[in-house]
Amino acid sequence: MTVHVVGGGLAGSEAAWQLAERGHDVVIHEMRPVRGTAAHKTDRLGELVCSNTFKSTETTNAHGLLKAEMRALGSLILACADEARVPGGSALTVDRALCAQGVHERIHGHARITVSREEVRELPDVGIVATGPLTSDALAERIRARLGVESLAFYDAIAPVIAVESIDQDIAFRASRWGKETMEGAGEDGAYLNCAMTRDEYEAFIDALTTADQFTAHEFDHVPYFEGCMPVEEMARRGRESLRFGPMKPVGLQDPRRASRPHAVVQLRQEDRAGRMWNLVGFQTRLRIPEQARVFRLIPGLAQAEFLRFGSIHRNSYVNAPAALTPHLSLRDAPTTLFAGQITGVEGYTESSATGLLAGINLSRLLRGETPVVPPPTTMMGALYRYLREADPRHFQPMNANFGLLDELDGVPPRVLKDKARKRELFAERGLAQVSAWRDAHALAAAVA
Ligand SMILES: Cc1cc2nc3c(=O)[nH]c(=O)nc-3n(C[C@H](O)[C@H](O)[C@H](O)COP(=O)(O)OP(=O)(O)OC[C@H]3O[C@@H](n4cnc5c(N)ncnc54)[C@H](O)[C@@H]3O)c2cc1C
Repeated sequence: MTVHVVGGGLAGSEAAWQLAERGHDVVIHEMRPVRGTAAHKTDRLGELVCSNTFKSTETTNAHGLLKAEMRALGSLILACADEARVPGGSALTVDRALCAQGVHERIHGHARITVSREEVRELPDVGIVATGPLTSDALAERIRARLGVESLAFYDAIAPVIAVESIDQDIAFRASRWGKETMEGAGEDGAYLNCAMTRDEYEAFIDALTTADQFTAHEFDHVPYFEGCMPVEEMARRGRESLRFGPMKPVGLQDPRRASRPHAVVQLRQEDRAGRMWNLVGFQTRLRIPEQARVFRLIPGLAQAEFLRFGSIHRNSYVNAPAALTPHLSLRDAPTTLFAGQITGVEGYTESSATGLLAGINLSRLLRGETPVVPPPTTMMGALYRYLREADPRHFQPMNANFGLLDELDGVPPRVLKDKARKRELFAERGLAQVSAWRDAHALAAAVA
């Protein structure tokens, strides 16, 4: 049976390779150059649309750990990136043209893969949709029709996410507005962590926010701002009091450690079930990354904030995976129609390639009558999949690899956990051991890239 992979970008090329190496005949349907996207410049498969880095190679970095796990499973994209590597310190930095050329030649040279240059407008019955953040309009409409309009977003408005242990809980207090808005597991103290500001703190914060350096978007990346998507710095520029009537409104909140009512309050909402990742509510932003760190650390309680994800606002087509897909990222009523890449709600070159890798493995398993498998959440890949499965569908935002996604370390003394560097080493050792054990338990010999 021929398998159809829609989209010959990073995830689609990786998925097709994994399938072909496991003995399946594959057609990759890639619309370039018949129809272009606003970001791609060439007709090469696996083109990197912007920066030339896959980020860190050190396993004590979340992106480095994800890459090491992918190598254990035989990633095509990383093999081609390695061959195109240019000096970049500990980062896997590549010559973009060489990297794409490597993917292009490997795919075209594979006896089991055919490349068809056309825009696909239907979902395949047996295949993988890997059409990325710039999925063509016709296919996006088809996905919406199949999954429901709420299940496919056309832009992301991402607020920063902070590691819980870096929030000063002598300053931030737990409460819900008017004591309401509780959620499962939040307890009587309320669902949010709140950072109260005095008038002086608020004024200084607004000054910093409105003068900070901002990312200038690509021409096509202009998002029509409306509620839920307005950058926090833009809101602040429209009037010094805007945030006090918007995401920083203090009403219904009383700081238990102060007699007076707060002048303004920043709320953080729990992002994951384990309560390790907290989202700055309403703080979607286009500030440059160093500026986000500088300005948001002015918020009382966040002086030492560790950012697990920075904010951004992009054109981005992505499915609300926790609401609409299965754990192996297929349609719920069609297990052999899988999704992979940025369209699943992961963010980044490496993350997109990783989901392509696993989609290829799982479709191959399904075609052989086996059940799909996902690595455990002690691995970076498994932790990302868990996020896509369990994130709150009401607030679902795309996610990059980060250590906050992983299961906590079991049986490690608290004094060791306090040592951040050691903790990361332990995360890495555990992740690598577990991905190999998982691979061997399911007889997933790495494809030869
Ligand atoms: C402008 C921009 C800049 C980015 N910069 C970075 C960055 O610097 N670093 C980073 O880590 N991540 C970045 N990303 C995010 C993301 O990592 C990349 O978009 C990545 O390429 C996603 O991989 P993918 O395989 O999901 O999609 P893509 O690599 O985009 O592949 C999707 C493919 O599907 C094709 N396609 C679309 N619709 C159809 C259709 N209907 N029929 C057939 N083919 C179709 C497209 O032509 C494309 O080739 C960026 C995203 C954008 C939009």
